[in-house]
Amino acid sequence: MLGNMMAKPLLISDLIEHAERSNPKSEIVSRRCEGDIHRYTMHDAANRSRKLANALTKLGAKSSDRIATLAWNNYRHFELYFGVSGIGSVLHTINPRLFPEQLVYIINHAEDRWIFVDLTFVPLLESIKDQIPNVEGFVIMTDEATMPTTSLDNVICYETLIQDESNQFEWPEFDENTAASLCYTSGTTGNPKGVLYSHRSTLIHAMSEVSREALGISSVTCMLPVVPMFHVNAWGVPYAAAMTGAKLVFPGPGMDGASLWELIDSEQPDLLLGVPTVWLMLLNHMDDIGKTLDSVESVVVGGSAAPLSMIKKFDQVHNAFLIHAWGMTEMSPIGTSNAKTAAMENMPLEERYKLQQKQGKPVFGVEMKIVDDNGQPQPHDGIAFGRLLVRGPWIIKQYYKSDDMSNFEDGWLDTGDVATIDENNYLGIVDRSKDVIKSGGEWISSIDLENAAVGHDDIVEACVIGVAHEKWDERPILLAIRKPGSAVSGKDVQNFLADKIAKFWMPDEVLFVENLPHTATGKLLKIDLRKEYHDYLMNK
Ligand code: ADP
Repeated sequence: MLGNMMAKPLLISDLIEHAERSNPKSEIVSRRCEGDIHRYTMHDAANRSRKLANALTKLGAKSSDRIATLAWNNYRHFELYFGVSGIGSVLHTINPRLFPEQLVYIINHAEDRWIFVDLTFVPLLESIKDQIPNVEGFVIMTDEATMPTTSLDNVICYETLIQDESNQFEWPEFDENTAASLCYTSGTTGNPKGVLYSHRSTLIHAMSEVSREALGISSVTCMLPVVPMFHVNAWGVPYAAAMTGAKLVFPGPGMDGASLWELIDSEQPDLLLGVPTVWLMLLNHMDDIGKTLDSVESVVVGGSAAPLSMIKKFDQVHNAFLIHAWGMTEMSPIGTSNAKTAAMENMPLEERYKLQQKQGKPVFGVEMKIVDDNGQPQPHDGIAFGRLLVRGPWIIKQYYKSDDMSNFEDGWLDTGDVATIDENNYLGIVDRSKDVIKSGGEWISSIDLENAAVGHDDIVEACVIGVAHEKWDERPILLAIRKPGSAVSGKDVQNFLADKIAKFWMPDEVLFVENLPHTATGKLLKIDLRKEYHDYLMNK
């Protein structure tokens, strides 16, 4: 027997309508590419999203058409989130940090009809325009006064496009499983893979993430998402803001410590969201100017593991709680959150910090398990580790236009991570399965080693890779970037690590480098380093 409840579809357009009705005065503040700070309200955003929907319809945008953006976090990008998906088209948020050949690949693979582009990225599109012949035109996200001269064909100015349109628009109703947005993973090998989110998955992900047990977003929240809107929809927080009426502060192109602090100082956000690298820059800047982040209550950190030194610094210097979260593009992205619990309030501090290093508990809707190489489930004791598999209503079941099902097993997604799960269901990411170091049959976590190494005051960034070893098959070596002017030696770093790691984890070598390579989403790119250093210990 089926229930008697209405099957009203969950649609992204409902979010912006709800926001306008319930929280019309909620503010959206953006640093613009044009250089100034722009502010308006949810009511304005809703009006302009409907104008945009009218303009897109006139341009001929139809259901399922892919409309792309190449843009920072700002209010026009926010309007596109609702205007494009709201009419049934698919918003393809392009990551400008991808290599040009990857950009060409994804624009052609997605069959983007139009690209909405911020001023910053116009030259990037000009450099690849001959390789993306099927794009019909480009909308530059600015006003007539700041329109650049460009070699792009069929160019429209965003403000001109929408200015004469009506702010009335009847959003269409359609199946909630309709595609809403598309995001490509940065991919360390091969071509990027597309993840196609639906209206339903987007809305229930947002419903779950606003909860106190996930990110704790509400009408009294003022949040600063530094995580880009081109990376898994800024972790879904633009939708969460429309759902709750939270104030949004968009940093635009200003992601350096000084620019972020300027916005934090003027807008007083209590919730920040971003990857560890960004917070490292902000924390260093705060050290330099000798000020503290007084308005900030929580900092959500995901994308890579949060080092212990960062958890402590936010707590001890800035009185801010670091919410460690884990997820993937394939998971919309939230899988787990390490929100503060009652138990944490009463825990000895060092014990709490240790717990905060874990990636947290699954948010409602996400199921996880760890299995060995034969697919056998491993115990949830915080010690045994295995391949992490997940499933849930906002997790992909296959990649866009791909029949490669190698990451999927009986309805579960293989995350490519190796992890532990403890008796309280806390997830501990040990490593990416391709990065974990197998030394004499024992596993060594490159992530844990890197995080221990950056605890040293003179180390800016650390990267651990496994290299060939005659006796142990593989041994870890540590590549590190020193603080400018520091004379710290490899031996000093090994001494520093000695009481922080198991003895057999000690990197055989510590080598100092000038730079480390990163993926388009800011993660260490180890594939080339592994090749370069493969025989390093063998040849010594
Ligand atoms: P991409 O760089 O391919 O776009 P994603 O942003 O989807 O990647 O990255 C997902 C991966 O990032 C996870 O599988 C995991 O390895 C890593 N990751 C994400 N959050 C954390 C975290 N809190 N701690 C450790 N690793 C993390």
